[in-house]
Amino acid sequence: MDFKRLIKNYLNTGVVQSSDTEANQHIFVANLFGFIGYSITFLMGVSAFIRQDRLIGIVLLIASLLFFSSHLILRSKRFANPYKFSANLLTISLMLLMIYLVFTGGVNGTGPLWIYIVPPVALFFGGMRKGTRNIGLFVLIISVLMFYPNDEWLATSYTFEFKSRLIYSFLTVSCLFAFYEYVRQNSFNRIQEMSQKFERQAMEDPLSGLLNRRGMREKLQNEFERSQRYNNDLTVMMCDIDHFKAVNDQYGHDKGDEIIKSLGTIFKSGLRKQDSLARWGGEEYLFLLPETNGNQGMQLAEKLRSQIEKKPYTQDDKIFSISISIGLHQIAATDTINQAITKADTNLYKAKEQGRNRCIIS
Ligand code: GH3
Ligand code: MG
Ligand code: MG
Repeated sequence: MDFKRLIKNYLNTGVVQSSDTEANQHIFVANLFGFIGYSITFLMGVSAFIRQDRLIGIVLLIASLLFFSSHLILRSKRFANPYKFSANLLTISLMLLMIYLVFTGGVNGTGPLWIYIVPPVALFFGGMRKGTRNIGLFVLIISVLMFYPNDEWLATSYTFEFKSRLIYSFLTVSCLFAFYEYVRQNSFNRIQEMSQKFERQAMEDPLSGLLNRRGMREKLQNEFERSQRYNNDLTVMMCDIDHFKAVNDQYGHDKGDEIIKSLGTIFKSGLRKQDSLARWGGEEYLFLLPETNGNQGMQLAEKLRSQIEKKPYTQDDKIFSISISIGLHQIAATDTINQAITKADTNLYKAKEQGRNRCIIS
């Protein structure tokens, strides 16, 4: 059990809690790849020494050290972007090791067999553009080394068939991985766009396009905490259309919908950027006004009320107008969010009782 946790902690070295899952997944894979990289190169390096293959042994141990450094970088807090540094180091170390294996032929000419690790690693850590660029550079370097006349730039020799098939098959594998990476990136972007869209929709009222209750709850929570921290004024306003049932009965439900939408537009145009407006219920709107005291809130409420009262609506040659009632409450330090809303609601109820088309504040 503890061993499992140890591995999990190790592979999550450098993971940042606040980062997105994609970024953290990359860090996880960097740790995993680094671990596999330095373990294998270390074991192969030791076995090379046992075989008396000193040079390959040294190179493999250096590679192992580089892979291990990529892990240390993720562990360190000295770098601005440790992942980027670590990922670059992993890719470059791997490519250098592969170039070396191609150059020397490795053990009995089997070294080039390892180069197929390059495309997935380069694409995963570098992304589509940087990845393909690195792969291109890699192919160029090994091609020049292998095809330079008389094997002058090689410490070994390969048959022409081997070299050409190596390059063809490497390019095929690279294209497949690039295509795969392209599809993966595309579908990841699409899923992210979709989830952002759904998230927005989940916060939005479809009829008016205003925030719905859920969206407003989030704003309330944030603004409430902020006002308490900085001791800022914060006022809530609950607004309800007067005798809306009668409007629906007389002019039809579609007209009612249109009015709900049009009030939303009118209200929005009277608000500042930091204010929030939600459709809180059927024909009820909740305003959240940061850095606004009761007096200032009352001025806004009166402005909106008189604007609505004067606005003419038409239906089948009939011209009519509607009115709204508003209850306000400036949030006090001792209020909870729900208490503040209830107080605004109570004031709205009073406004209705006192004859509607008016604004009342605590
Ligand atoms: P009061 O002045 O006391 O608020 O009277 P009222 O008629 O507005 O209040 P009541 O709560 O009795 O009725 C609210 C009406 O609002 C009833 C309902 O049909 C209407 N309503 C709620 N949501 C919608 C909607 O989405 N579209 C339309 N057209 N009407 C709605
Ligand atoms: Mg009403
Ligand atoms: Mg109502």
